[in-house]
Amino acid sequence: MQFADIPGLPETKAHLINAVKNNHLAHALLFHGPEGSANLTLSLALATYLYCQNPGETDSCGTCAACQRMAKLVMPDLNFAFPVIAKAKESDKGDDKDQKVDHLANWRKFALEQPYGNVHDYIYFNGFEKKQLNISVGAARQIIQTLSLVSFEGGYKIMMIWGAEFLNQQAANALLKILEEPQPKTIFILVTTQAEQLLTTILSRTQKVMVRGFSDQEIHDYLVEAGLADEQTAAQISMIADGNLREALRLVNQVEDQQVVWIRNWFRLCHGKQFKDIFALSDAFHKFDKEAQKSILQTGVNVLREIMLKNVEVESLLRTKGDDRQFINKISGNVLTEDHIPGLFELFNKAHYHLERNGNAKLIFTDLSMEIVLLMAKID
Ligand SMILES: [Zn+2]
Repeated sequence: MQFADIPGLPETKAHLINAVKNNHLAHALLFHGPEGSANLTLSLALATYLYCQNPGETDSCGTCAACQRMAKLVMPDLNFAFPVIAKAKESDKGDDKDQKVDHLANWRKFALEQPYGNVHDYIYFNGFEKKQLNISVGAARQIIQTLSLVSFEGGYKIMMIWGAEFLNQQAANALLKILEEPQPKTIFILVTTQAEQLLTTILSRTQKVMVRGFSDQEIHDYLVEAGLADEQTAAQISMIADGNLREALRLVNQVEDQQVVWIRNWFRLCHGKQFKDIFALSDAFHKFDKEAQKSILQTGVNVLREIMLKNVEVESLLRTKGDDRQFINKISGNVLTEDHIPGLFELFNKAHYHLERNGNAKLIFTDLSMEIVLLMAKID
């Protein structure tokens, strides 16, 4: 994670970078901001900047060995603590299984895949349903132990505590001393959306980094630049998301689902050889902006992938649900068999390629539709 990966927030980024440059970075930082804000991403970008072997004026280099390791969150001197469920009792049948779970690997995966996710996402991600999460006194002792060892690379040792509000009282008390007087070159980074739930003794020992919610414009620009939404959709989503990037990304997925409905309709028309409606759809396609057009083709490829998986009976990998799944079940093997999917992939890629090179969207879409009609007709 680099600063450039995070939308907007120029003032907070500059503040952090200046603190590093001027050697003013406190040894215990508390990143706190509302849900869907850049609490975690900013702290990861800061850690990357601290480890970068070739840091620039405004960001880490992104290419050195340290940056590459940070991109996977596998920096030896960067340690993580996070809430987990209380250990199962010995009598619990799930005990064995629980002990084998690699919480750190899961945590890295979650942080990389859903860096704006909240605690509920985290619980869902780990399958922790209905169990009590906490950062225990045992975990706190582990933190102290880890920090008592010398650093691997001779640089900063960082302990990042995500979900710091889950530190229970005993754990928090155990950490007070080390928070106040850590070893040299040791940095604590506490990350929370619920700073008010932290003990005042912890709060008083950390320097606060207030992370504001994103502005509508920041979310809008991020969605457009990442190719996640066209201008108009991005404007609508950023307004509804109200500064919460997690919410914005969730809404983007909903829009994707609407695109699946669009693809379903399109394939049905092709199968029914309903040319008049297909041409109307080409007109509609033409009116979308280029990003949206490319995004629809991408959704088409995703649908083809689902059909392929259904055809070769790897149903455990299918992602579609409800009506979309019914559609996949119906079309697979019947209208489109596994023999036809590779050819279709190629046609979709070709269409995508021509769109990229500013081909006429209406012609591209009509051509593609005719190819699909032909293919489906052959199978009948
Ligand atoms: Zn670097």
